[in-house]
Amino acid sequence: MLNYKEAKDLLIQHVSNTGVETIQLSDAEGRITAEDILSPVSHPLFDQSAVDGYAFHFGSYTRLAHNDDNHNDDKIRLQVKGEVKAGDPGEVQLNAGETLRIFTGARVPNGIDTVVMQEQVTADGSEIVLGKEVKQGQHVRKAAEQIKEGELAIKRGSSINPATIGFLASLGIIEVEVAKPPIVKIIVTGDEFASDTDGLATGKIFESNGEMLVAALNKMCIQSSFEECTDSLELLTEKVKVASEASDVLLVSGGVSVGDYDFTKPALEANGYEEIFHKVKQKPGKPLLFMKKGDKVVFGLPGNPRAVMICYYLYVLPMLNAMMGRSSPYLTQAAFKSASAYKKKDDDRTHFLAGKINGKEVEFLEVQGSHMMKSLTEADCIIVNPKETLEINRGDLVNVSILP
Ligand code: AMP
Ligand code: MG
Repeated sequence: MLNYKEAKDLLIQHVSNTGVETIQLSDAEGRITAEDILSPVSHPLFDQSAVDGYAFHFGSYTRLAHNDDNHNDDKIRLQVKGEVKAGDPGEVQLNAGETLRIFTGARVPNGIDTVVMQEQVTADGSEIVLGKEVKQGQHVRKAAEQIKEGELAIKRGSSINPATIGFLASLGIIEVEVAKPPIVKIIVTGDEFASDTDGLATGKIFESNGEMLVAALNKMCIQSSFEECTDSLELLTEKVKVASEASDVLLVSGGVSVGDYDFTKPALEANGYEEIFHKVKQKPGKPLLFMKKGDKVVFGLPGNPRAVMICYYLYVLPMLNAMMGRSSPYLTQAAFKSASAYKKKDDDRTHFLAGKINGKEVEFLEVQGSHMMKSLTEADCIIVNPKETLEINRGDLVNVSILP
């Protein structure tokens, strides 16, 4: 049986990339860039004022500052000539001793290089009076100081977040080339699912893995749906056939253990899938099955809902990210001091536990049974307790994977 690291490393060797598509920037949140995006412009687009105030040429100001006729008591006087507000072309020319009323975001005209804040001057009719504490270039955002035309704006394989969208929009970009999401189909297996929420017969349960996986995939901008299948090898084989033909990735939950009614593996084998690995030394999620057929992959996920979710974060999500070319396919790793103590009995399984970060500490959430979801609903990370670590004490450093 593989350990977690071996399974994870093996998985990533079986990635086939999805195609690319061009979409509107406004639809791109959460998608993965499929190309290096070069800036079509320099940004800022022009020299602009960072404040509301007065703009002038520093050279003419210093000449005045050194001319004793111009000022008494250390004050400099400038004549206000014209005004430039945000959006104006700002084609104004100033002579020595003149200044320009200017507002935040307004273009600083050619030949003018310095701005004083309005709070730091005294306006006196058409004149302003200011002190000597002025530095050349102050309060001017220089053209191209953020990025030059042709430079790399966003790397290929980046996840597009709202800031990415804002940045690209500011460069005038309206379309982006992104990875096509893989087509994912979900089958949940079991004889125990109630046919509807009203008629819960004795022994039946509410099916929950289907909606949960659809929601998780939705977060990755992957639209999917699920179907139920009873514990019948024949029926499951048929459903796998249809779903497999229509998908890149198949998720089958339940039926991957060794019970008499566990038909997932034989149904996949009957459809030509080959085992890459089955069972991992981990808790929860030990029965995990990963198979492949050409470019198509299938995850035989456990039936227990918590194990499904953990396996999704540890294996399915990285696989889908890698298929879309995301440069960092795994959940973000971090280390925190443990706020709780934790003991395990077995010494050969990696345990994955629901955790909640609180400042510099992470707390283990109770309870952690693989059929129980409640603590995972409050979690913001998965605490990784490596196979060789039998005991975690308060204050020990533990590794966590941050949930998306
Ligand atoms: P299995 O792996 O099929 O033996 O299922 C393990 C446990 O998970 C059993 O208690 C099942 O009832 C439960 N289970 C399996 N599939 C689902 C599902 N889709 N929704 C909720 N519970 C499930
Ligand atoms: Mg079952």
